[in-house]
Amino acid sequence: YRGDQEHRVVLMGLDNSGKTTLLYLLKLGQIVQTIPSIGFNVESVDAPVTNGSSFKMTLWDLGMGCGSMFYGRLVRHYMAATEAIIWVVDAADTQRLEASVQLLEEVITPDQHEDVDKSVPKSVPILILANKSDLPKAASLDQIRIAFSRFSPGRLLAVYKTAITRDTIVGTGIPEAFGWLQLVWG
Ligand code: GDP
Repeated sequence: YRGDQEHRVVLMGLDNSGKTTLLYLLKLGQIVQTIPSIGFNVESVDAPVTNGSSFKMTLWDLGMGCGSMFYGRLVRHYMAATEAIIWVVDAADTQRLEASVQLLEEVITPDQHEDVDKSVPKSVPILILANKSDLPKAASLDQIRIAFSRFSPGRLLAVYKTAITRDTIVGTGIPEAFGWLQLVWG
């Protein structure tokens, strides 16, 4: 493991899941009132890990309002050579949990008109952040795990609970989740 290495990571998930909030907490160290993102933001940030270290990470925050085959195709273009997918789920929005699962499916699987090599390689780890876990109606970690279990065979996939509510990364669950990525990357 080389601490100074910049990892290329895409940050994705349905709208309103907390992607921009996470991006700005990492970038600025504070919660910023976000406006719905159109297009995408690319930011290079330091990703803190539980053991006190950090690694450089380039986040491609691809604003995704609704799932569509077109989106899946467009997004895969930006995902070439990504070293991980960070998939943010609004754990409190249980009504859209299945929509989030379906969008991930669409993003990593090529449709029938595409070459097989356009799919995301199975070696790319998927880190699922069950965000907004601070909210009382948030789905449990097990519920989220079961919902995303269809991707597990042959893939490195982990689900971590996160809550991004204060101007500090400590206690959000993010460093623990990033620690998993660091382990996977070796
Ligand atoms: P994006 O569309 O995925 O970029 O979502 P945003 O980052 O814009 O967040 C949508 C809303 O959820 C904002 O009002 C955030 O303040 C709020 N939010 C983000 N993360 C959390 C969280 O962990 N807990 C709670 N309670 N609210 C959150």
